[in-house]
Amino acid sequence: MSDILNEQIFTIDTEANIQKEKKVEPLQLFNDNHPMLSKEIPEYKIPLPNPNMNLLINRLKMTMKKYSGLGLSANQCGVFERVFVIGTEHFQFACINPKIIDQSAEMIKEYEGCLSYPALYIKIDRPSWIMASYYNENGEKMEVKMEGLTARCFQHELDHMNGIKFVEHVGPVALRMAKQKRDKVIKTIIRKRKHGK
Ligand SMILES: [Zn+2]
Repeated sequence: MSDILNEQIFTIDTEANIQKEKKVEPLQLFNDNHPMLSKEIPEYKIPLPNPNMNLLINRLKMTMKKYSGLGLSANQCGVFERVFVIGTEHFQFACINPKIIDQSAEMIKEYEGCLSYPALYIKIDRPSWIMASYYNENGEKMEVKMEGLTARCFQHELDHMNGIKFVEHVGPVALRMAKQKRDKVIKTIIRKRKHGK
């Protein structure tokens, strides 16, 4: 597996006819009230593979790693394309035009976080397994059975593609309690920093 942080892209400066090296930069993370998080993103229709999508995917992977996330959707970074990345520090993959084609009747309730909502964790009920379909960056159609954390991440990111925020899965009382918990955690971190731990 290549280390995405060391990966570089090459652009050709046609005027000077010189090949220049350009570092892949992470994207900016938008906050939770950005309007793009509430919009359904249309299907991606440009033929794959293509350099723009490859660059976007690399930047999404870098951004996800930078913030130690397990998933990141393009619209969380202000990019209106139907693509997200999921994975861990060591392995990430991209899902273009993702869909769920089958899912378990059995539901599992687990804590979820979101890079657009720092330090907020909410327990959400989701099917325990899914049959996921998506295109990878090479344009290959993938159909994969996912379970556990991968299934949960895929469903969370697919919600982003459809303009659904994870806080919409719970009622106002549960959300208020989760936010109170988050505020306490943030206060503790600030206090510890002030007193040098
Ligand atoms: Zn999210």
